[in-house]
Amino acid sequence: MARVYNFSAGPATLPVEVLEKAQADLLDWQGTGMSVMEMSHRGDAFVSIAEKATQDLRKLLNVPEGYSVLFLQGGAAGQFAGVPLNLMGSSQKADYIINGSWGKKAVKEAGKYGDAQVAANSAVDGAFTDVPARADWQLRDDAAYVHYTPNETIEGIEYPDVPDTGNVPLVGDWSSAFLSKPIDVSKYGVIYAGAQKNAGPAGVTMVIVRDDLMGNPQSGVPMVLDYKKQADADSMLNTPPCFAWYMAGLTFEWILANGGLEGMAERNQRKADKLYGFIDSSDFYSNPVAPQARSRMNVPFLLANDELNKTFLAQADEAGLCTLKGHRSVGGMRASIYNAMPEEGVDALIDFMRGFEKANG
Ligand code: PMP
Repeated sequence: MARVYNFSAGPATLPVEVLEKAQADLLDWQGTGMSVMEMSHRGDAFVSIAEKATQDLRKLLNVPEGYSVLFLQGGAAGQFAGVPLNLMGSSQKADYIINGSWGKKAVKEAGKYGDAQVAANSAVDGAFTDVPARADWQLRDDAAYVHYTPNETIEGIEYPDVPDTGNVPLVGDWSSAFLSKPIDVSKYGVIYAGAQKNAGPAGVTMVIVRDDLMGNPQSGVPMVLDYKKQADADSMLNTPPCFAWYMAGLTFEWILANGGLEGMAERNQRKADKLYGFIDSSDFYSNPVAPQARSRMNVPFLLANDELNKTFLAQADEAGLCTLKGHRSVGGMRASIYNAMPEEGVDALIDFMRGFEKANG
């Protein structure tokens, strides 16, 4: 079996143990004689899988009482609509903090449903290299919520801390840093994340919502995006993404068995420190992001000579270091080093980069 080191931003590499468990269960899940893909979502077997996954996620994140945990479809982009449709309430206003491409998409989508305003934007000449300083945020007291993106996947920009928004509920699109470190859920009104980076395959989106923020959606909200209806139905208002939910559950078990979120945080920090340390020590590679806002998950880097990008990618691929191409909007390379990327993968990447610099620098 030849597994490569896959640096894809998402769908992304999964823990081998998770894939092996799924493989072992594939034809016959625990003596049921059927795969999880073939089960009724209303049957005891799948209900037990869903309940276990939900409990494990609550345990991992230490989700307090008074919050519901939903497993929905439609991706994080679906929640770009789900959040305003559920939360905008009577004020019809929401403030958005922009420090990258996904936040821009989120505010655009929210604008379809109410007065979604950019309260801070760290772009300089269209490019993002930092988060906007909290002191510069122009928040409205009567906004129904403040939305931000803790980790911008494309630009590789991550908030070092959770921003304080006072009494206005904070909403975080945690997609690309979800489960990479502990989160203080009590600081949030809503946390949402697509699974396909740190929490499983694509197809399931987790939404953690403070209960008092549910139950007052805009008229016309699609029922599948109605948080209260989904919470009351245990996320089974309609057929849920059963297999993705099951795979997310296996991923939660893997995280719990590997030190929980503290363990993930420690490993992720070490991997990121190594890679940024190498980039900073070299004149051949560079990363434009302000050091305090560098993402531990997505590490974009440029080569001194752009002409060499294609050669770099081809040779890296041959060396079993795959999917390193940066997003087309920023160019260069991007190494996504989520939970499931072993430290050896980061070491192998650094070795390769060092050799490439020697040959081409
Ligand atoms: N937000 C962030 C931060 C993302 O990285 C992504 C996907 N890369 C999305 C939203 C969109 O997620 P989805 O494709 O699950 O809708």
